[in-house]
Amino acid sequence: MTDRYESRRGKVLRAVRKADVDTLLVSGETNVTWLTGFSGDSSWLLLGPEVCVLISDGRYQTQIAEECPGLDAVIRKPDVKLHTAAATAVKQAGVRRLGFESHLLTFDAVEQLAAAVPQCELRPAPGRVEELRAIKDADEIAEIRAAVELASRGFNVLRASLTPEMTELGAAHELEQAMRRFGAEGTSFETIIAADDRSALAHYRPGREPIGDCSWLLVDWGAETRNRYKSDLTRLVVFGKPSKKLRRIYDIVLEAQTRAIRAIRPGVTCEAVDRIARDHIKSCKHGRNFGHGLGHGIGLDIHEMPRLAPNSQTVLAAGMVVTVEPGIYLPGWGGVRIEDDVLVTRGGHEVLSQSVAKDLGSSLVD
Ligand code: ZN
Ligand code: ZN
Repeated sequence: MTDRYESRRGKVLRAVRKADVDTLLVSGETNVTWLTGFSGDSSWLLLGPEVCVLISDGRYQTQIAEECPGLDAVIRKPDVKLHTAAATAVKQAGVRRLGFESHLLTFDAVEQLAAAVPQCELRPAPGRVEELRAIKDADEIAEIRAAVELASRGFNVLRASLTPEMTELGAAHELEQAMRRFGAEGTSFETIIAADDRSALAHYRPGREPIGDCSWLLVDWGAETRNRYKSDLTRLVVFGKPSKKLRRIYDIVLEAQTRAIRAIRPGVTCEAVDRIARDHIKSCKHGRNFGHGLGHGIGLDIHEMPRLAPNSQTVLAAGMVVTVEPGIYLPGWGGVRIEDDVLVTRGGHEVLSQSVAKDLGSSLVD
């Protein structure tokens, strides 16, 4: 039986052959993890038809044996640089045309590598592994489901424990602690909890002011599983009776999201899904207040392929998992964003986060 990493490496080899290189030097940390199960850093994988070797250092010797049994590894000495150890492995494998991750390696690293393997032609091969990572296998989908479940349970605890004295930061800690108690490794990214007008700031960091008598909180959060798969959700928590304006904006955003999700199925381009949400928001005269893409893939990284955005021509395929997160942001007033995690299935889609209610009524807290 081939294990999941072997079958992933097989896919990369087939993709690389099409790119006219015989061997790929994988330097992206998450790409290495996806292909080997190794969870450390500063390690590269040389992968070709004749070679599969992880180039790492002494700190990781035991970890490699545990995480990747059977995988060849070169443990470089402290005085040997990573690119030097990689060059030696390239020479030993007799590689003629080496693909490298030009979107990730630094210019210096490429130059040093090229100088160390003069007999080998270096060719940029950007995004090869990421393209394959976009389509999740059954294990990965189960992991993302678990990450969504952890986020959902954490959010229930947060809602039940909110008090006027609590600060945004305190609320974020409450949510994160709850997710960890339920078994999360940590958060997918720094939790955003923003009250009222602060919710118009896209990358707001929770502050130390009491929530007090704010009208609503925007909560954008996610949990990471033991195996590092992530979820990413956004909900509003509304205190008391929502204003007319909040109701109006919320309805527009929810309708934009509902329409976009409805369109998700294999064969549809990412830009088409983005356009559906964007057109609805535009038709409600808020086009200028939706200044980001509609969504992104999630997996081992919080932002993966594909991107749901204007000009993103990627075609959706079964197994992709994307966020759908339209928003309207009015400086000085606040922002509304609703975000769910959606699996593309053969027949259409499945909203993985549907257990986290999102109609305005269920966002209310007394
Ligand atoms: Zn988010
Ligand atoms: Zn997101």
